[in-house]
Amino acid sequence: MPGTYDVIVVGVGGMGSAACYQLAKRGVRVLGLEKFEIGHAMGSSHGLTRILRLAYFQGEAYVPLVQRARELWLETGRITGEPLFYEVGALDIGHQGSGVVEDGLAASEKHGLAHELLDRRTIEERYPAFTLDASHIGLYQPQSGFVASERAILAHVTLALYHGAEIHGCEPMLDWEPTANGGVKVTSDRGVYEAGRLILSPGAWIGDFAPGLKASTEVVRQTLGWFSPVRPTLFDMARFPVFTLEASEGHFYGFPLWQHPGFKLGSPHFSGEPYDPHLPDRQPSVQQRDLLRACLAKHIPAADGDLLGLKACMYTMTPDEHFIIDTLPGFEQVIVASPCSGHGYKFASAIGEALAELAIAGHSRFDLGMFSLRRFA
Ligand SMILES: Cc1cc2nc3c(=O)[nH]c(=O)nc-3n(C[C@H](O)[C@H](O)[C@H](O)COP(=O)(O)OP(=O)(O)OC[C@H]3O[C@@H](n4cnc5c(N)ncnc54)[C@H](O)[C@@H]3O)c2cc1C
Repeated sequence: MPGTYDVIVVGVGGMGSAACYQLAKRGVRVLGLEKFEIGHAMGSSHGLTRILRLAYFQGEAYVPLVQRARELWLETGRITGEPLFYEVGALDIGHQGSGVVEDGLAASEKHGLAHELLDRRTIEERYPAFTLDASHIGLYQPQSGFVASERAILAHVTLALYHGAEIHGCEPMLDWEPTANGGVKVTSDRGVYEAGRLILSPGAWIGDFAPGLKASTEVVRQTLGWFSPVRPTLFDMARFPVFTLEASEGHFYGFPLWQHPGFKLGSPHFSGEPYDPHLPDRQPSVQQRDLLRACLAKHIPAADGDLLGLKACMYTMTPDEHFIIDTLPGFEQVIVASPCSGHGYKFASAIGEALAELAIAGHSRFDLGMFSLRRFA
């Protein structure tokens, strides 16, 4: 006799852990299945931190969702007693007229978000770590910052368990099938389970279980670097924000020092290296490492010290770089939520809430229209 639940969540990473918590909190009988250990470094959510920006230059329809996410990160951090969101401010630096600053500015003005437009000289005076191009300008958002992404997964799972969820680590789902009563049967390497609803949040592995989505998603490797800061005080959390930087070598992002001695730098434009999530290891890319070094040498020399560490992580990209949060065509009982195109973590707390609402009521308070699968039809 299979174990029976209201909802099974497959993939207890960034999105799945939040969904488990939000479902369990609402009294739903939930089972979370995770292929690796909880909080592993094989998916898309490791590397300690993720940027949360309120004025979203990827599309201002994201703003209400990120505002709710920020509230939830603060609330969940208060409940667990360990902050999950750090309001260190965010600075988007771009070339005049390129859209990076202008789009964020438009979103700030439309949604009444606190912001400051900075010229190059002001940025360099305020943050002496940067050496910028003459055409650089910046948008500073004081209420933005970063989410402690690894810690947040553990916090969501802790709270989900507290509310009665069952979470199985190191138990991959092998297959799922619809049942005659409109539910689902899920087979793992350890058992068979049934539920009324299935939430598929397996990140980069989504193509294994929703074959139709394989064609609409591409998994790419992203290398993160930690570098010994030459002048560590310039990167102190009290005076240095998270940032994105448009440079001639690409688009980069970085963080103040937090829980690691190194200055963390990455680039969201490393999209050219397809990656197979089934590979057993996560080798960082040498080319990507060299691009990070080039950015440091030119624009952030105060962090251009010895390499302390590299990690490879995966983006699951959609063609328009927007998310997929929708029911699976032909299977109303199956909700897909994962391919977050390299910018989804900040939303995970609110996406978890939206998934719980979708699973329970069939609709969410958020307008999820732009994440619909129908846009690829
Ligand atoms: C280097 C890097 C930097 C990023 N920076 C930012 C940022 O600054 N801000 C931001 O908002 N976003 C950022 N992102 C994007 C963000 O981290 C991702 O969108 C988010 O982590 C995706 O979460 P997820 O739950 O879809 O995937 P994951 O957290 O990877 O979770 C998917 C889970 O499903 C599990 N799974 C897979 N198959 C199975 C199976 N068969 N059975 C059971 N479990 C299974 C996996 O093991 C995994 O734990 C970044 C991503 C990367 C890689």
